[in-house]
Order: sequence, then C-alpha cells, then structure tokens
Amino acid sequence: MELTGNLIIGASDVPARRGTMKALNPASNQLIEPDFAFGGALEVDKAATLADEAFDSYSHSSLAVRAAFLERIADNLDQVREDLAARAALETGLPEAQLQGEASRASTQFRQFADVVRKGRFLQLSIDPAQPERQPRPRMDHRLQKIATGPVAIFGASNFPISYSVAGGDTASALAAGATVVVKAHNAHPGASEIMARAVRKAVRESGLHEGVFSMLRGSGNTIGEALVDHPLIKAVTFTGSEAGGMALYRRAQQRPDPIPVFTEMTSVNPTFILPGAMAERGGAIGDGFIERMLANVGQACLKPAILIAIDGAGFTSLRQAMLDRLGTAPARTLLTPAIHAAYVSGLAELIAVGAQRLAEGTAAKADLDGRATLFEVDGQEFLAEPRLAGEVFGPVALLVKVGDSDEMLAVARSLRGQLSATMHLEDSDTMLARRLLPILERRTGRIVVNAFAHPQEVSFASVHGGPFPATSDSRFTSVGMTAIERFLRPVCYQGFPDELLPEALREANPLHLPRIVDGQ
Ligand code: NAP
Repeated sequence: MELTGNLIIGASDVPARRGTMKALNPASNQLIEPDFAFGGALEVDKAATLADEAFDSYSHSSLAVRAAFLERIADNLDQVREDLAARAALETGLPEAQLQGEASRASTQFRQFADVVRKGRFLQLSIDPAQPERQPRPRMDHRLQKIATGPVAIFGASNFPISYSVAGGDTASALAAGATVVVKAHNAHPGASEIMARAVRKAVRESGLHEGVFSMLRGSGNTIGEALVDHPLIKAVTFTGSEAGGMALYRRAQQRPDPIPVFTEMTSVNPTFILPGAMAERGGAIGDGFIERMLANVGQACLKPAILIAIDGAGFTSLRQAMLDRLGTAPARTLLTPAIHAAYVSGLAELIAVGAQRLAEGTAAKADLDGRATLFEVDGQEFLAEPRLAGEVFGPVALLVKVGDSDEMLAVARSLRGQLSATMHLEDSDTMLARRLLPILERRTGRIVVNAFAHPQEVSFASVHGGPFPATSDSRFTSVGMTAIERFLRPVCYQGFPDELLPEALREANPLHLPRIVDGQ
C-alpha cells in the first residue's frame, strides 16, 4: 500500500507545513521511507473546526446510520489488515502475527460498538411522565437521554499500535457515542497510523457523512498536542502513555477558560499476590506463568504484571526457581522506541540505586534497542521503606517482593498506588486471608483477577480497564469495553416538551423501540 505521509484533515490530504519525519525501524535502528508531514496549530484549528461543523449532523444521525458507519470502518480495516500488520511490524519490532491479531481486535471493537449503538441502551432513556394532579404541586413531564459531549481529541498509544491507536477503542467508542474525532497519531508508527486513518476516512465518505467526523494529525514535540487540548472546540481528551505526559495534558485542560474532561491511562504495576495455600500447591507454575505474562509485548503492556508479592514459606523456593528458569532463557527483544529503550535502561539503574537486587537476566541484547529481561528481588521491609520500588519500568522487568507473613503482605498492598489490575492466586485454605486482602485491592484497582493473569484484556460489557490515580485520571470510567462509551456522553433533560419536538428516542410512541425507564421502572 502506498503511503503519502500527508495529514488527513477531513476529506483533504494535507502536506507538510512544519517539517517532516521518517519512521524508525527499531529492530534495525534504521529510518524507513517515506517522509511523514508534521502540522501545527493551523492544522489543529482546521481539524477542530471541521469536527465542530460535523458534530450536529453526526451526533443527530440515526442509530442505524451510525452503526452501519462503524461496521464500514470494521470492513475497511479488515481489507487492509495484512498491509497494516506488516507496516506496524516494521515500525514497532512487534511480531506481524501478533499485529494481525490486534488488527482483528480493532475491527471487532467497531462491530461490537455498532451493536451497542443499535441497541440504544447507552442513551439511558428515562421518562418521568407529567403528574398534573400531584400535590402540593404538579410535576411536569421530564425526559432524559444522553448525548455526545462534543468533538474529542484522541492521543494514539505507542504500545498497541493498532488496537489502542488511530482506529483503536478510544476512536470506536467516541464515534459510537456520536462524537466527532481528531486523532493525534503517535510518531512511533506513522505509516500504520496513515493506513488506519485512510480506512476510517473511506468509511466516512462511503456513509455519506460530513468530512469533519474524523481527522488525523501528526506533529513534532508537544506543540500539536498542546494546541489540541487548548482548542476551544475540543470538548474531551483521551490519552494513553506516560504519567508525566498524561498529567501535563490533564493540568493544561483544567487551566482552560472552560475546563474539559481528560481521560488518561498512565501507569500500573498490576501487583500479583500469591497466598500461602496456592504457593504451597503450585508455586512453580505460578512463577512460570507470571514471567511468561510479564514478557508479553516485551513488557510494554499496560497490564504487565510487574510486581509479585509472596510469603517466604512452603513453595517459595520453587516459585523463585521457576521465575529464574523462565526469565534466564528469555531472549532480549526490541523495544518500541529509542525513548522507551532509554527509559528502560534508566529505570533499571534506578531500581538498583534504590536497593533492588538483581536475581536474573535473560540473554544479552544483540541490537541497539533490545531490552534484556531482568528480575529483581527485595524483601517486604525494603519495599515498604522505598516507594520508588513500586514505580513502573516499561519493558521486560519484574520485581519479586518476599514478605515475612500475611500482615506484611497486607501492608505492601496498602502501600500501593492506584492500579489497573491486581491478581490473587489462592486455594480454598486461603479464603480468610483473601477476604482481608480484597477490600484493600478494591480501593486501589479497577479489576481483581483470581488464579489467572490479567493480560490480555477482554472487550466486553463487564470489562474494566481503569482504576484510581495514577492508573488513570478518572477512576469512574473504563477505556476498554463497551462502557468506554460513557466517557463521551452527558445527560440532557427535556422538560415539558411537545412530542414532535422531542428526540425520536424519547417520543411517547417509542418509535425506535428502545429500552426506557418510565417512572423509575
Ligand atoms: P508519552 O511520552 O507519554 O507520549 C504519548 C503521546 O502523548 C505522544 O503522542 C506524545 O507526543 C504526547 N505527549 C506526551 N507528553 C506531552 C505533553 N506534555 N504535551 C503534549 N503532548 C504530549 O508516552 P509513550 O511515547 O507512549 O511512551 C513513553 C512512556 O509512557 C513509556 O516508557 C511508559 O512508561 C509509558 N506508557 C505507559 C503505558 C501504559 O499503558 N501504562 C502505555 C504507553 C506508554 P510526542 O510523541 O510527539 O512527544
């Protein structure tokens, strides 16, 4: 597939105005063709203005039209799956087969959201009919539906270059809500981003929608991201990346004359707790499974289990030996970008500086951007005394925390910041301790897993990919799963309306046959 390197602003291909970049193949550390355009504040203004112009017609499009549009995007993504996976592999060093799976997941998400749109439950329709006879004063007719908040700025993630990127879950859920979208593509995979943007734009055209429903920008440094968050026509932001970047954008949005919601997904070490019964029973198997999961996506997954907490006792030796065996043979693999590689190297150095002991290393790095798998160990008291040991190092590194007893395990759990997920490995004999641990984890995580490893994430109605700060900036929402749509919706109440002026979904005869709550029932 031919790549132009242009920005995609509505129906227009916009060439470079603020310089260009080439993609980097991290496996070879070589630049690859072609040149990709950078834009600036002018391009942000064009895309945001178009998104605003498109908003009224798109957010009022019928549920059938919107669902069909999402399915067209899915079909268009399927048509480019092989080219997309091949280009993403070149730009990320991740295996092409894995990226084909990601591409399928991306199109599946659009189809799942099409179904959500058709069923209409996300509108949360509610009707409180008028009660003219009510005493001491009559009640007017009240009807509620949720509407989209307005044009959304989406920052594509680096680590899942398809399913969390230009055509990922944020874009799918925002478009499903009826929001128009301006994506800031991640510079780590510009070619894959262009392929996805073209697939979405083709669907906009085929569906006869306003061109401003979707745009994709690219820029150098922070300028374009800052301009997007500042733009008065942008009404919400999603972001996946570093805590520093996410919080800079979050604070910026709160300083606007009209602050807007920013949904950031930032950092999580996804602690794993092995309770004594499970460790005595199957410590070795848990240690092996933990390291296998930790290494997935070269340790660059938001759900990477990075910290394992185990009580020193029966099974501990087999647990540790299994971790050493699995990690010791792990090949060094390419990290996504030079910046992530540099952060990995300095993150390892910091862990050593704050007292972590290196237990094992995988095979040595062969290429410039390879990350060598590394396992550290500390005891519970050391962990509790040094908060930096609980920080995320993106890449193939894990920390084993050896605690003396169950009280120390609970103290370690209490010391943790907000997480996307936590895991307990347990047997029936561990129920009492699990009951004590559970409320501590509930307060700190968005998802608690028993006897499995949290990655990969399901995209379903009960999915939660969120959690208290710093896992995200707003623990009330999820960025993955069908309820991710709620980030882009707000309620509007229509009071005393004549039937013909009401949104169709709220009319008395229920012409769309949607589920509605009437008088609370
Ligand atoms: P990042 O540096 O935070 O960048 C993410 C996106 O936000 C990029 O498009 C970046 O633009 C933009 N950005 C960052 N800071 C900004 C600012 N102050 N103003 C405007 N735009 C800004 O994340 P990354 O490149 O994906 O990886 C770096 C680190 O993020 C990793 O080492 C890892 O620690 C973390 N990360 C965590 C997760 C997770 O799920 N937990 C996922 C991905 C990354 P530019 O590229 O143009 O600067």
